[in-house]
Amino acid sequence: MFHKITYNRKHDFATVHNYGCTFRCPICSYKLKSGADGIPGLSYPKPDKFLTIEEIKSTLLSVNPSSVHFMGGEPTVAGMLPEMLSFVKREMGAETVLGHTNGVNLSIPDLDAANVGLKAWHEDVHLKVTGVEKSRIYGELERAALRGMRVAANMIYIPGLVDVDQLSATARHLSAFRVPFHIMGYIPVPGQPYRRPTIDEMEDARRACREYIPDAEYSYLSPEEVLSLERNDDRFDVKVIAGSGCHRTLMPTAF
Ligand code: SF4
Repeated sequence: MFHKITYNRKHDFATVHNYGCTFRCPICSYKLKSGADGIPGLSYPKPDKFLTIEEIKSTLLSVNPSSVHFMGGEPTVAGMLPEMLSFVKREMGAETVLGHTNGVNLSIPDLDAANVGLKAWHEDVHLKVTGVEKSRIYGELERAALRGMRVAANMIYIPGLVDVDQLSATARHLSAFRVPFHIMGYIPVPGQPYRRPTIDEMEDARRACREYIPDAEYSYLSPEEVLSLERNDDRFDVKVIAGSGCHRTLMPTAF
């Protein structure tokens, strides 16, 4: 369900924010805002009101952006997403992007691009974190790349859970599909036992991934920085143009 729309004038894109997710990952960064007892994938507090499809359409038309991003938890859980993608692409002539997705469903008509957050390479870790088999997510991503969709992937480096071996194996796999790859340093979420990687470990991870994807990069944000991304990156400097509730993304986006 979509509850808020923001607009970035400088980069001319709008973002439609969803509430809710298909997964319940224990390391979900939304817990940085909601705390250990918060339900992963949900922005807090729960919005008082959700936007109707007509409200979303009229708001987007009022700013006429060159691209529209859908994000927040997992945007493909929103039942109105297919109609929104069709409207944005066919009636507005704008690019359609899943700004962040867990990759559970990339086979949606009128979708131009997706930034996929992969969780793990090892099957047991993938199941432990997401509750679904790895092949379901990687298969979606591979099929999307093969049919020409612009896709990028990222994975969080979590020492003791998702280590360099999983990051480099993922990079090696993605290189066959020419999918860009970004490593994110884990920011400890409440109630979880994992620590933040060191900067040296991030450098090692990037070096390992660059064996397969030469321009692989990493983000190494502090908890304070991740809650105020707009200070260092003007793509996050947005104005709320409809709705209410939390709108901040907690992760850098590739598009
Ligand atoms: S898929 Fe992403 S938003 Fe959903 S629970 Fe997992 S980490 Fe959180």
